[in-house]
Amino acid sequence: MGALRDEMRPIGDMPAEGGAGKKKSSTPTLLIAQLKEMSESDSEIMGGKPFYCNLNVDLTWIFVPENTDRQMFYLACEVCRKKVLEDPTGRGYHCENCNRHFENANPTYNFSIKVSDCSGTIMLSVFGEIGETILGISAREFHKIHEDTAAVKELTMNVLHVNALALVVRAKVD
Ligand SMILES: [Zn+2]
Repeated sequence: MGALRDEMRPIGDMPAEGGAGKKKSSTPTLLIAQLKEMSESDSEIMGGKPFYCNLNVDLTWIFVPENTDRQMFYLACEVCRKKVLEDPTGRGYHCENCNRHFENANPTYNFSIKVSDCSGTIMLSVFGEIGETILGISAREFHKIHEDTAAVKELTMNVLHVNALALVVRAKVD
């Protein structure tokens, strides 16, 4: 019994509904189960219309790629923000969209998380600045440490279950 208990993940504090004053907006606040149900039954969402809602959730997992082909960020063009490719010469980057060579590129977060509330669990894609909020460091700082597997693991593990997250989620069925 004791051993089992020790292996259980901490559930994180359940804040007594507080935090920085609730935002009032027309964006509905849903439970995960409600969001799932809507995105499977609403014809507009299923037709590809983006739908926004708020979720109040616990961050339960961050997917850290095990192999180096995949990253938790991509390098974006400083002009058009599209993904750039490293120049074959090893110097700088090439943006196909701008059809230009650049010295630098902007690391931009793009990773997956799992969140849960009392109604269920859902996987979400995290893009851009929200990644900064979740991990607590900028994508540029993250880029500097991303090859240090131990540091990345520590960083991601340390932000699980810490705070209740209020997320604005864009549901889209591709
Ligand atoms: Zn570009």
